[in-house]
Amino acid sequence: MFRKKRYELNEQTLAYELHRTPLATRFSRGFVLFLFSVAAFACYYLLFTQYFGLEAPKTILLKQKYVELNSKYELLERKFGQSNQALEELQMRDNNIYRPIFGMEELSQDVREAGFGGVNRYAHLEMVSNSPALLDAVKRMDVIYKKAFVQSRSYDEVGLLAKRADEMAQCVPAIPPVALDNARLSSLFGYRKDPFSGALRMHQGIDLSGNKGEPIYAAGNGTVVEVRSSFFGYGREIVVDHGFGYKTRYAHLQKMLVKVGDVVERGEQIATMGNTGKSKGVHLHYEVIYRDRRVNPLNYYNQDIKGDEYMAMVRPRVNGEHTSVI
Ligand SMILES: [Zn+2]
Repeated sequence: MFRKKRYELNEQTLAYELHRTPLATRFSRGFVLFLFSVAAFACYYLLFTQYFGLEAPKTILLKQKYVELNSKYELLERKFGQSNQALEELQMRDNNIYRPIFGMEELSQDVREAGFGGVNRYAHLEMVSNSPALLDAVKRMDVIYKKAFVQSRSYDEVGLLAKRADEMAQCVPAIPPVALDNARLSSLFGYRKDPFSGALRMHQGIDLSGNKGEPIYAAGNGTVVEVRSSFFGYGREIVVDHGFGYKTRYAHLQKMLVKVGDVVERGEQIATMGNTGKSKGVHLHYEVIYRDRRVNPLNYYNQDIKGDEYMAMVRPRVNGEHTSVI
């Protein structure tokens, strides 16, 4: 900014001299100007952004991009959640329904999530990307793929067993081990007073009382794995392994008509009822063992199967030989 030069009369010298504004005055004027322009800019900025609500074009563009990315991310996140939930439902159904049907152990969480953790398998990714969100997404995708892989392997296994479903249906101990017309249910599964000591004890099976010599039948197809004789405990006993996690025990027998290793069929006579071992009176002590745990045998056969219907399913022996039913 240029000012007009001002001349003033010097009354002592009577000469016109150039008027000089003192430096301090000039500086303070400049400072006031500076303050004024700052204030003017602030007012302008406030008016622009606050009052009219306007934004710089670049900010607008970035904001749009952000909203767009954010909605895409949310969509992905939702899909991710849905996939994970669907997979978890499949796992639950697999563990609680499909695998137990075929007597398979449920897959533990450890197995289902095998291979996660431990060595950092994402080191190479961390080198090329510094976005924690991206890395996290990749890791979670990886977990889903692995779980899905384990799940599909489990289905393969279940599928193979499903093909053996027919065989399994023949193996499960599903018929009464003795004709119910000739036997009385004299003791249930569960806690009871011990017939000898009177103390409360777990009864691991059921007792079916009848006449000495009453035929005892294998409740399902299987292999004889134990044939024992004892003066105590179970007395004469037979254990049949039916596969698929099932075993049955027949105790206090009189005669045992099979030996270890014999393959027996459902309804095949394996013994006769007796009173051997720790027993008061002629009865069969019958146990169903599923995966090494005693379960209630009454849950495994229909108590209404009687008479001809039952006799059509079993093959009593005459003098140690099977009678032909064919
Ligand atoms: Zn018993």
